[in-house]
Amino acid sequence: MGDVVTGQFGKKPKAPKRSSLCQHGHHSWKVDKASQFDVKSGKLVTAYLCARCGAKKTGLS
Ligand SMILES: [Zn+2]
Repeated sequence: MGDVVTGQFGKKPKAPKRSSLCQHGHHSWKVDKASQFDVKSGKLVTAYLCARCGAKKTGLS
């Protein structure tokens, strides 16, 4: 009694790592309404923000 065995039984401890989906390019895109207008190009664009990893992309709407 008294000895604590760790790492051998039960579930693996959850490591705070990024989603593997994002690593494979499957981001959870959400429309970033804060920046829908691209001033540089003067065009209305839709900015997307990944809800998981924070990656950004833009696409012409
Ligand atoms: Zn992502």
